[in-house]
Amino acid sequence: MASQEIEALASALARLPGLGPRSARRAVLWLIKRRESALPQLLAALDTVRQNLVECRTCGNVDTTDPCGICADPRRDARALCVVEDVADLWALDRARLFTGRYHVLGGRLSALEGVRPEDLTIARLLERVQAGGIDEVVLAMNATLEGQTTAHYIAERLEDLPVRVTQLAHGLPVGGELDYMDEGTLAQALRARRPV
Ligand SMILES: [Zn+2]
Repeated sequence: MASQEIEALASALARLPGLGPRSARRAVLWLIKRRESALPQLLAALDTVRQNLVECRTCGNVDTTDPCGICADPRRDARALCVVEDVADLWALDRARLFTGRYHVLGGRLSALEGVRPEDLTIARLLERVQAGGIDEVVLAMNATLEGQTTAHYIAERLEDLPVRVTQLAHGLPVGGELDYMDEGTLAQALRARRPV
């Protein structure tokens, strides 16, 4: 039987997304074996996160400064705004380095099932940002799920009367995907989004 201290760490780690009890115990063992080498680094990184990270009041990103590095960067195109569900989506898009504008994090997506309403998300703040002017294009980058698309549709409707171009990420074949393995929904989206070559 593991000691109480080890059990406490394992159950704390098991609460992390993607880590069940089994992987949590393996992570604990890994940390115990490296408590002189890897643990101080991990503790320092966790402490930095605890002390220094704040939510950007403009876009909802998490950074050490408010406004965040992206909002404060004069090289970013202030005329293009990309709307995402979560900070993880912002990071994923920004890692691709293709979008040079700024972001808006909704903090989730509309869900009748989970009782998430428009006022639970930062939609009002998004409308304020667009109404303030200086934005030409809003890119809706919601997930290709039913709830993500419902959210995109809702936001597109709310933006309808504002002088801004609303676009949406294309849905279709993933890079490296083979037609034979695609589900019908993906194939239908890819066909609908076809373009001249
Ligand atoms: Zn920001």
